[in-house]
Amino acid sequence: MSDCLFCGIAAGEIPAKTVRESSRAIAFRDINPQAPAHVLVIPRAHYANLAELAAAGDGLLDEVATLAAAVAADEGVADGGYRVVFNTGPDAGQTVHHVHAHLLGGRPLEWPPG
Ligand code: 5GP
Ligand code: ZN
Repeated sequence: MSDCLFCGIAAGEIPAKTVRESSRAIAFRDINPQAPAHVLVIPRAHYANLAELAAAGDGLLDEVATLAAAVAADEGVADGGYRVVFNTGPDAGQTVHHVHAHLLGGRPLEWPPG
C-alpha cells in the first residue's frame, strides 16, 4: 500500500531502528517509546489489523508472535515479563492501519491498561 507508513518502513524507504527480522516480518523500535523496551513487530505485507492478519493464515501471525518472543529475549525482558498488544480500531487508539504488535517491557506494567 503506497501511502502506508509501515509499508514504507518494511520496504526500507522510511528509516527505522530495526532490531530483528524474519522472512515475512520485521521488528523496529517505536518512535515514541512508552517503556524501556518498546518494539513494534509487523508483517512485511500489508494487513490493516489483527483480524486481517489472522485471516491471512499460512503461519504469518505465528511468525509475528515468534519474532516478538525473540525480541523479548534480545531486550532482556523475557524472564522479567513483558506485554504484547495489538491495538485494534478506534476505541483501542489504533493510529497506524498496518497491523503491528507492540512489545512493551523493562518496567512494571499496570493492568488493566487505560
Ligand atoms: P497504534 O496507536 O496504532 O497502536 O501505534 C502506532 C505506533 O506507531 C505508536 O506507538 C507510534 O509511536 C508509532 N509510530 C508512529 N509513527 C512512527 C514512525 O514513523 N516510526 C516508528 N518507528 N514508530 C512510529
Ligand atoms: Zn502497510
